[in-house]
Amino acid sequence: MITLKGIPAAPGVAMGPACLYRSELRVLRRAITAEQIPGEITRFDEALNRTRRQILDIQKRLAEGLGQDHADIFNAHLLVLDDHALREELEAGLQKQLVNVEAVFDDIIQRYLKVFRKTQDEYLRDRTADIEDVRKRILRNLLGKQTDELGRGNEPVVIVAHDLSPSETAQMHKRHVLAFVTDIGGRTSHTAIMAKSLAIPAVVGVEGATNRIHEGDSVIIDGTHGEVIVSPEAPSIERYQLEHRRHEELDRQLLHLKDLPAETLDHHQVLLAANIELPEEVSSVIAHGARGIGLFRTEFLYLNRPDLPTEEEQFQAYKTVAERVKPHAVVIRTMDLGGDKFLSPMQLPSEMNPFMGWRAIRFSLARPEIFRIQLRAILRASVHGNLKLMYPMISGLEELERANEILEEVRRELTQAGQPVTESLEIGVMIEVPSAALLCDLLAPAVKFFSIGTNDLIQYALAVDRVNEKIAYLYQPTHPAVLRLLKQIVDVGHAGKVKVGMCGEMAGEPMMTLLLLGLGLDSFSASPVQVPLVKRVIRSIEHSFAESVAQQALTLRTGKEVEAFLLAKLKQVAPDLVEQG
Ligand code: PEP
Ligand code: MG
Repeated sequence: MITLKGIPAAPGVAMGPACLYRSELRVLRRAITAEQIPGEITRFDEALNRTRRQILDIQKRLAEGLGQDHADIFNAHLLVLDDHALREELEAGLQKQLVNVEAVFDDIIQRYLKVFRKTQDEYLRDRTADIEDVRKRILRNLLGKQTDELGRGNEPVVIVAHDLSPSETAQMHKRHVLAFVTDIGGRTSHTAIMAKSLAIPAVVGVEGATNRIHEGDSVIIDGTHGEVIVSPEAPSIERYQLEHRRHEELDRQLLHLKDLPAETLDHHQVLLAANIELPEEVSSVIAHGARGIGLFRTEFLYLNRPDLPTEEEQFQAYKTVAERVKPHAVVIRTMDLGGDKFLSPMQLPSEMNPFMGWRAIRFSLARPEIFRIQLRAILRASVHGNLKLMYPMISGLEELERANEILEEVRRELTQAGQPVTESLEIGVMIEVPSAALLCDLLAPAVKFFSIGTNDLIQYALAVDRVNEKIAYLYQPTHPAVLRLLKQIVDVGHAGKVKVGMCGEMAGEPMMTLLLLGLGLDSFSASPVQVPLVKRVIRSIEHSFAESVAQQALTLRTGKEVEAFLLAKLKQVAPDLVEQG
């Protein structure tokens, strides 16, 4: 039995057999005879034809949805498929090496990639991503793997991976995946957030997990405390069973709060809503008693697909969510692509600092033709419920004004075409870049609400990459600098007559609830599973108690001091939640 420590990413405990997952395609080498060469060539030709058909299909859909320019991006892919030199090298390689065609093909492509990566020619360097993509498509077709679906076997498993992208996590199915563990990653990576949404316990940043856990090993995952026990012995299994029952019991108790308001003992009420990534999660929002959706991360509609979502598809998604949640509000955040969420059809070049790069509103403003489609869909859906619109990663007034200009143009187009749209769609901004936090007085007159995105605000304010496990100890939501920023945003927002909410992970941490309530936050939006916990804390106290907690917390000098203080206060008002972690 060994116990591995990591970063708690999504709460809950689970036990099951380990399934090692590698997102990178594995090409095995297999010896063949000279007689088998023609058969290998036929397999390769079939894979090429299938790949060509898939790419032409993507091009067609892109051309219809976005115009020929976007479709043309794939011309480079088609050129690789028709490359005669590659074909000749492949046949010669088969003759010479007498190994399977995947292995010969991959050797050649890897050589091409090496040359392209080193070249000084910028155009050729940019083609690396195209070649890499074609490589994966051909290999998938050769290996007979259409998509890398996670945990679709018969038996539920614990996924063990070096890393998982948010889009891979989004494919997980609760019925098949009991929990997951990764070697790297941070607490507020979108992979962790997605796991929480799916209510799948997860531990990330477990150094060496993929080396120390073997296929089929029995493992216990404690996503609340960040622990992984490999090949557990009887006492650990008993402890796990006890913990499992305690979680279930607590969930049952908390569900009694489902229809009660999020208000303090002296009737100070706040709005307690939930975050979603996909429309399917609305059931969980309702089941956990959240009042509407405070953050719909719409970029997930763009992931795990070879093309971009059409206006009609997006319209249907937003309309469905709006109708199911009304009369409560749904805050639709325009796409926050980039960072750790990448768009497959566009083959964007990789960046050194993706979280500080071409992301969110920066991407939307640079690609107005994609942005406009989303805005049209949102405006059209606005008449079907109580929708609000929010822009991510605003760093100053110009971006907000430019986004609003495009929105108004789109609104005019729709009205002229006789489409009904809501006149009074409320616009808000996320406050997640320190510059925006410092400019709240200037942003306030242009919006109706602020929503504090602490996941990013913390990483930018403390200069701590949110997905890097090596510096995770520095990612401190309780850091005094973060507390001061939060106070300033709430105070300046209120002075400017805007509502101030929070939709970062901090809003769902019971330990933070007293502080945030005391700072004067108007609304909280958290992962659905966290909503009952936060409500429980709010309903346990007088508002003045929270205010005094916030005041005292602001006088402390380090993140550790603030954390110990908040934990002690939470223990005072809700000891059973502290037992849970
Ligand atoms: C945030 O940054 O706090 C936030 C809610 O947005 P995301 O986690 O999607 O970056
Ligand atoms: Mg963010």
